[in-house]
Amino acid sequence: MARGILQIDLAALVANWRALDRLSGPGTETAATVKADGYGLGAGPVARALAGAGARRFFVAIAEEGAALRGHLGPDVQICVYGGHMAGDAPVIRDAGLVPMLNSPEQIARHLAALPGHPFGVQLDTGMNRLGIEPADWAAVAEAALAARPVLMMSHLACADEPDHAMNAAQLRVFTEITAPLGLPRSIAATGGVLLGREYHFELTRPGIGLYGGDPFADAAPVVRLSLPVIQTRSVEAGETVGYGCTWRADRPTRIATVSGGYADGIVRAMGNRAMLWAGDVACPLRGRVSMDLLTVDVSALDAVPDMLDLIGPHQRVDVVADAAGTIGYEILTALGGRYARRVLQAAAADDLPAGAAAAQ
Ligand SMILES: *Cc1c(COP(=O)(O)O)cnc(C)c1O
Repeated sequence: MARGILQIDLAALVANWRALDRLSGPGTETAATVKADGYGLGAGPVARALAGAGARRFFVAIAEEGAALRGHLGPDVQICVYGGHMAGDAPVIRDAGLVPMLNSPEQIARHLAALPGHPFGVQLDTGMNRLGIEPADWAAVAEAALAARPVLMMSHLACADEPDHAMNAAQLRVFTEITAPLGLPRSIAATGGVLLGREYHFELTRPGIGLYGGDPFADAAPVVRLSLPVIQTRSVEAGETVGYGCTWRADRPTRIATVSGGYADGIVRAMGNRAMLWAGDVACPLRGRVSMDLLTVDVSALDAVPDMLDLIGPHQRVDVVADAAGTIGYEILTALGGRYARRVLQAAAADDLPAGAAAAQ
């Protein structure tokens, strides 16, 4: 079988959620961001595992994701939508019981007119200039919005993965100034904000990437293992080239393994001649370009070539792979394609194992 295996360890995911939850005090609820199909890993299994561990609030990007998630989770959890209440969303927001994070005066007017009495949050822009109500606009709509009792006041940090960046404190100051007098639940921290410390936690945090094992949560347990089958191996003489465009030339006799997986599977083409694959704890360099369905890998260091080589796994976290492609772990995870065989290791079964056994693979 030439299908790569994408293994998703839900016990590790739950451990990451608990670890991030422990970083905030007892007065802070830890939600989970599961947009983009749970960062590409499957919103259904991911959210069910987290709900089983005690998560009660989930965030998605758009209303349709929220409706699908409601199907996975049933009625007992809150599902919030970062994109807010777009024109035409009222039926899905109502039927799926979603909580839109309203991000403009227009959205506030739309929501209060279309679904009076239906819960909502308010998203303020505190300097990122991406999504949310500007402080000046908030002054004009605050009275009407507050009269309808938002369930959450939120904002988002532009530079939370850089702890020393002056933007963090600047945004915190703006957020605090606007929201302190209101006495409403507040949230400004995603993964990076959780790691910035207590003053960023407020009543709710909403981490995403850290749950899935990515930076900036450097201590995260690895959630993903991506193993790619070796289709054939060959010997290449000094002076011969490998792959499209002849971008790699052997300077000595080399064993090359051709591996199933390519840019159609989210293995970004920019990784060509840069990334490593792993056979146990031996690193094997990618040689030549990444093609649509295939990689060529230098396995000269191996005595025996295994059936599979790992691109992401215990020896190489997703951010190392992302670095090789000049991108971030978020983009690698969400680009993993539909062609892999997905193996979900259940959190409950893994919890029965002795401590540590679930993480060892
Ligand atoms: C994606 C997102 C999050 C989660 O961010 P991570 O960096 O993945 O933890 C939180 N809040 C907003 C508004 C987001 O768009």
